[in-house]
Amino acid sequence: MNNLLKIANRFVSVDGETSFGGPLQFSNFIRLGGCNLRCWGNQGFCDAPFSISKDSERYDLAIPEQLAQEYNEQISKKELPNRFTITGGEPLLQSEVLNRFFKELDRGTNPIINIETNGSQRIDLIRRRMNQTICFVIDIKMPSSGMHKRMKLALNKDLMIWPDILKVVVETEDDLEYFEKIYSKFDLKESRVAVGPKYDPQNKISKVTPERIVKFLMDRKMFSVRLNLQLHKYIWPYASPYFVSDPDKIPEDQIEHMRNLDR
Ligand code: SF4
Repeated sequence: MNNLLKIANRFVSVDGETSFGGPLQFSNFIRLGGCNLRCWGNQGFCDAPFSISKDSERYDLAIPEQLAQEYNEQISKKELPNRFTITGGEPLLQSEVLNRFFKELDRGTNPIINIETNGSQRIDLIRRRMNQTICFVIDIKMPSSGMHKRMKLALNKDLMIWPDILKVVVETEDDLEYFEKIYSKFDLKESRVAVGPKYDPQNKISKVTPERIVKFLMDRKMFSVRLNLQLHKYIWPYASPYFVSDPDKIPEDQIEHMRNLDR
């Protein structure tokens, strides 16, 4: 089982978040199953609760080389975009199998690869190769998520290379204060950093608005920090996040429903 990719969902969509090369580019999304964090656990909140269980039986299993060959074939026929967004769950929990998947992709179409990681794993679990564009989008979880103490920021900051970027989602004024503290503690002036608001399950922006974030950054002259709006939510306002009380016990029909709305 550990030799196979555990896949919660696959689809083609536009990548509307902080990534390499600008907003809203078409991408092959692969949402991997299994996550070591439980963000906003007390509120039963997660962007993709159907992808966080450890239970392999909940996922499609794929031989990485075979899956990569299928993508290479379709990409070379221009039936799919030459770009990947690997998300989860936490993709780096499957780093060994992912390395095999990327190696096989390199042999064919050598696509641009974005990997969205929750910040709790070291990014050098993925081997970077010459001529390969991998962009890590690395979360820095804030106190409102309850997961801020699980971050490997000191380590990952030193492992980052262009175009890797740190992504911060803020919900409260306390989160903004905390961000300011770690920005200075870890000296993030030279790092690529993007800050954006959290969305509630009705996809309304929560307490800290984009306007507030811009003012906060301007007041502190944090001019290299970007504002990260989840642009795909303008297109699919009914997509994630969701409330679930127990991600290991989501009924099958609800999982299917979430999968269909997954963007
Ligand atoms: S929001 Fe992301 S990191 Fe947090 S529990 Fe859900 S999948 Fe894991």
